[in-house]
Amino acid sequence: MTPRLALLLAITLLAACSGSDPATHAERMNGFAERYVHLVLGVGEIAPGYVDAYYGPESWRETVREDAADREDLLERAETLRAELDGIARPEENMAALRHDYLGRQLDALIAYLEMLGGTELSFDAEAKALYDAEPPHFDAAHFDAILAGIDALVPGDAPLAERVEDFRAQFVIPPERLEAVFEAAIRECRTRTLMHVPLPVQESFRVEYVNDKPWSGYNWFQGDAHSLIQVNTDLPIFIDRAIELGCHEGYPGHHVYNTLLENELVNKRGWIEFSVYPLFSPQSLIAEGSANYGVELAFPGEERLAFERDVLAPLAGIDADALDEYAALREKLAALDYAGNEAARAYLDGKMSREDAIAWLVKYNLSSPERAAQRVDFIDTYRSYVINYNLGRDLVRDYVERNAESNEERWEVFAALLGSPRLPSGLVEQEQEQEQEQEQ
Ligand SMILES: [Zn+2]
Repeated sequence: MTPRLALLLAITLLAACSGSDPATHAERMNGFAERYVHLVLGVGEIAPGYVDAYYGPESWRETVREDAADREDLLERAETLRAELDGIARPEENMAALRHDYLGRQLDALIAYLEMLGGTELSFDAEAKALYDAEPPHFDAAHFDAILAGIDALVPGDAPLAERVEDFRAQFVIPPERLEAVFEAAIRECRTRTLMHVPLPVQESFRVEYVNDKPWSGYNWFQGDAHSLIQVNTDLPIFIDRAIELGCHEGYPGHHVYNTLLENELVNKRGWIEFSVYPLFSPQSLIAEGSANYGVELAFPGEERLAFERDVLAPLAGIDADALDEYAALREKLAALDYAGNEAARAYLDGKMSREDAIAWLVKYNLSSPERAAQRVDFIDTYRSYVINYNLGRDLVRDYVERNAESNEERWEVFAALLGSPRLPSGLVEQEQEQEQEQEQ
């Protein structure tokens, strides 16, 4: 080897390692991403439900199936891949840097999940951190007692509060034969409101199915090419407010829009194939559930939700619209109780509450019916600390969007940019700290 050739080689190697050559760096990341997709599909083979969506090459799935790697193989590959990523310098360009961080953190979560499959037991908080990159807050019973006192005045009577709330809500149940018409109108409105701010590909579409006997109340199955299947569980009576929640959360600007933007912005435009697979038990889910829940108030700010429910949905459902004002006030207070679900999940999964205790806690502090509380514990059994993604996720996304936007139009812009970029849950929080530091300076 001549000194000149050695020097050239050294420069090439240095460039590949330091990422100073963007083309080489991108190629390396794309190769890395391909192996990440194979790995996620491999975990999906041993853990049904882990892969929430996949629309990359079908041949990759076949290869993974034939490969039939076991948990130990997958763990070893994941750890190798993780170490390799540490050897690739973090690029300076913002989106490329986010991609780098994102892949690393998603891999950390995958490793933690494989370890859990092997019997490693994590506390609720440790699991939430490992899988969802977030630290759920703790609230004691006194915190919820204070909220309950405010609700008590809204539904006077002698029966236990949960029963009074359930009785009051009974008048807002959508008759089963009207469900389809009400949901269709709600989804259509969510879509119209979203499309005014977020352009979507022309072929974008969804299909709704009504199902039973599931641990969840609704689900979006993204099929690729901007198409979703939305399933609605009709096991329990469905209240009128569920229509907008479902339309926004599963559809617009929630899961369907999130997946469509990831596909369009990252997979199609940038060729970032890692986004063609969605591992459910990963930080991506906090952004997904959080943005889907925040999407309700983004699409229907202030009084707009009540107005649409009163003027359009209540007549379609054959529900007396007069009491909707009171119901909206109650709903706002009930939302403040949603962290009570996390407390039940934490205590139950950490072995400090039995199933019966958890149901009783949810009845008392979530003001659920016993049937709904039991369905909730089924959900906790299946999805564990995933529950934090709904409320903590919503609050993190809301803080992030509202901190970075001043008008409603800007909120939509920040929101759409968040959905079309690989931002991590801790990234939403860290920025806040940075901003606080800036303000202090
Ligand atoms: Zn969801």
